[in-house]
Amino acid sequence: MHVMPAMPTYNFSPGPAVLPAPVLERAQAELLDWRNTGMSVMELSHRGKEFTGIAAEAESKLRTLMALPDHYRVLFLQGGATGQFAAVPMNLTGDDAAADYVITGNWGTRAHAEAGKFLATAHVAATSEPHTYVPHESEWRLSGDAAYLHITPNETIQGVAFDKLPDSDEAGVPLVADVSSIILGEPIDITRFGVLYAGAQKNIGPAGLTVVIVREDLLDRARRDTPTVWDWTAMAKAGSLLNTPPTFAVYVATLVFEWLAALGGVDAIAQVNRRKASKLYAAIDESGLFANPVAVANRSIMNVPFGVTGAVLAERPDLERRFLAEAAAAGLVNLEGHRSVGGMRASIYNAMPEAGVDALIAFMKEFEREHG
Ligand code: PMP
Repeated sequence: MHVMPAMPTYNFSPGPAVLPAPVLERAQAELLDWRNTGMSVMELSHRGKEFTGIAAEAESKLRTLMALPDHYRVLFLQGGATGQFAAVPMNLTGDDAAADYVITGNWGTRAHAEAGKFLATAHVAATSEPHTYVPHESEWRLSGDAAYLHITPNETIQGVAFDKLPDSDEAGVPLVADVSSIILGEPIDITRFGVLYAGAQKNIGPAGLTVVIVREDLLDRARRDTPTVWDWTAMAKAGSLLNTPPTFAVYVATLVFEWLAALGGVDAIAQVNRRKASKLYAAIDESGLFANPVAVANRSIMNVPFGVTGAVLAERPDLERRFLAEAAAAGLVNLEGHRSVGGMRASIYNAMPEAGVDALIAFMKEFEREHG
């Protein structure tokens, strides 16, 4: 009997997201016995030399990939980017402080709302309405006495990305950025930033790990009542080992960093990412059935939202549901847009092979031929 080869599954999830197959294979091979210790990484003491070695390796690999200078500290924490929405104001301000937020999507909205619990003034310096572009810097209304300026360089839900960074840091206001969905996807000039933070579950590894990169001069500013696990300075002093870190997630991150370095690092993967994104946007723009609402200059290379055009959808409201069901049946999964915006979204992080994007484009063309 002829056996059909298994159809590949391409996972377009926004996070937790696809991981590189060689990383999963390596983790599987080492799962029961890590480097002849007779133990799984999951079973290693976080204070033993085996795990502290893994953590040191994770940090040095990330430093190399991101070209981080020595005066930036790297923290491996828990609590997700959402935890950092609170940790940022707690670590950078006193009680009566103000901070500026530029809001270009859901995550910036959430970061700003959380900061409002801790700041006297969580000032909206600019916001896009709808969230399909980044307001021009000339329109920003900065407060003048802000302890920091917060941006979300890549809004995962709306697929909106900054095409140009503000110069606030040069003016003495540290720039703080939630880079959850862009870290390692393209080069980031760290010297423009005071603080970067990211949940790991997109381009770094499994959920549970949160990376914070903070410039040294911004330590020692935390409010007195900052809980210890959120205190960057305490965590930096303890080498992120103040309490138990997410050990297995840190280990998988080292494998992802190794995989990325072997591919040529961030510059090399960024070229592939740009190519993947531009062919997907081209397919959307050329189609008569699908559309992407984001200003061309602000289109994300990591998260590509699209929908059936409004005119068609008005006549055939089930067409997106049908697209998602048929795509899933063809092995193209997790293409649902975020529940707050609907439609579709393809997250095409580092580990999404170019063949996955090609398969999606071919499927979209076929779908349009049948239903367009
Ligand atoms: N910020 C951004 C840009 C995100 O994409 C996400 C998760 N999708 C979050 C914050 C929230 O992250 P976490 O679930 O790690 O708290």
